[in-house]
Amino acid sequence: MAGILFIISAPSGSGKSTLVNQIRSLVDNLEFSVSYTTRAPRGSEEDGREYHFISRQEFERMIQNDEFLEYADVFGNYYGTARRSLADAQAHGKDLLLDIDVKGAAQVRRKVPQAVSIFVMPPSPDILATRLRNRSRAEGSIQEEVIARRLAEARQEIENYREYGYILVNDVLARAEEELLAIVTSERLQRAGLTPAPDQERLVKLAESCRQQNTDERVRPVLLAFGLPAPEPVKP
Ligand code: 5GP
Repeated sequence: MAGILFIISAPSGSGKSTLVNQIRSLVDNLEFSVSYTTRAPRGSEEDGREYHFISRQEFERMIQNDEFLEYADVFGNYYGTARRSLADAQAHGKDLLLDIDVKGAAQVRRKVPQAVSIFVMPPSPDILATRLRNRSRAEGSIQEEVIARRLAEARQEIENYREYGYILVNDVLARAEEELLAIVTSERLQRAGLTPAPDQERLVKLAESCRQQNTDERVRPVLLAFGLPAPEPVKP
């Protein structure tokens, strides 16, 4: 494809939307794919901006017509990326950013193996639970069973982190934002076959440190806190 396809996934409450909005405001020529969903709009969400909000019937018709690059059932609602998003970005020579779940990301990687995939981890289940409670409070009410379910789902998603090329741990937002910018910059330079300018070398190094195979030390405490198997520490 002409542009780069970036996929970003994260458990609900990991701060992914903030990161996505930030990178969209910092970087030119990066289109954001507005997904289709059957869930109802929340808060100030607008049709066509955050999502295209459609009925189950319409969604199923689009499946029948093979209009989706990928789609998945997330928390009981359908979510999908239209093939047209990718075709439009390609036609305009733009990079495309998909904010999709782990199941959708696996489908896209099979179809577009050169896609750059990024997984954002929350620092710990406690911090994730606090963020989820704060968000629920802001939306009206805290339902502990919903929080517990989201935590269990987060654990399942984190289990798949090795499928992703890059890993970010969102403990300090400014750091995660810089890392995401570094990944986009570094991938663009690499694909264009360009040598980094002196002021870009630091970003390229930062991006390298976020490659999944270089993040064992960083992800170990997160995996252990979620009760998941973690890579062995390197012996001194
Ligand atoms: P929310 O309802 O909180 O906006 O999103 C719930 C989850 O659905 C998030 O993990 C988000 O990344 C995922 N999601 C949003 N759009 C799509 C899509 O088009 N395809 C897939 N597979 N997941 C999506």
